[in-house]
Amino acid sequence: MSASISEVARPFVEGLAEGELRYQSCADCGAAQTLAHYACQHCASDALAWRTSGGEGTVYAVTEVKRAPSDEYRPLAPYTLVIVELDEGARLMGHATPGVAIGQRVRAGFFEHLGRQLIRFAPV
Ligand SMILES: [Zn+2]
Repeated sequence: MSASISEVARPFVEGLAEGELRYQSCADCGAAQTLAHYACQHCASDALAWRTSGGEGTVYAVTEVKRAPSDEYRPLAPYTLVIVELDEGARLMGHATPGVAIGQRVRAGFFEHLGRQLIRFAPV
C-alpha cells in the first residue's frame, strides 16, 4: 500500500470540481463505497473502479454543527452535516440544507468554500 489517501481519493476530488459525485464500485462483488478505501469493504477485493453517482439518495444520519472544528469552517457555522446513502449503495458525508431529516430523499449540489468544492444535499 504505497498510495497516499489523497492519491486514492483524487478521482473523487476531481469529480467534485466537475460537479460529479463519484464512488467506488467493486468489480468482484458489485458493492459500492465512498472514497479512500484500498480494498472492497465487503469482499476485500482490490478491483475497485470509479463510477459517477446520479447524486440522489436517502439521509442516513444528521448532525447540527454549532461550533466549527476549524477556522476554515467557522464562517459556515452553524451548519448541518449528513451522511447520505446514495441510491448506488455508497454512503457519503456532506453539508445539507438545515432541517433535513433521517429517511428524507435528497439530491447533491455543490458550493465553493475557500477554493474547494463542497457537497451540499437538499431535499428532492
Ligand atoms: Zn467486493
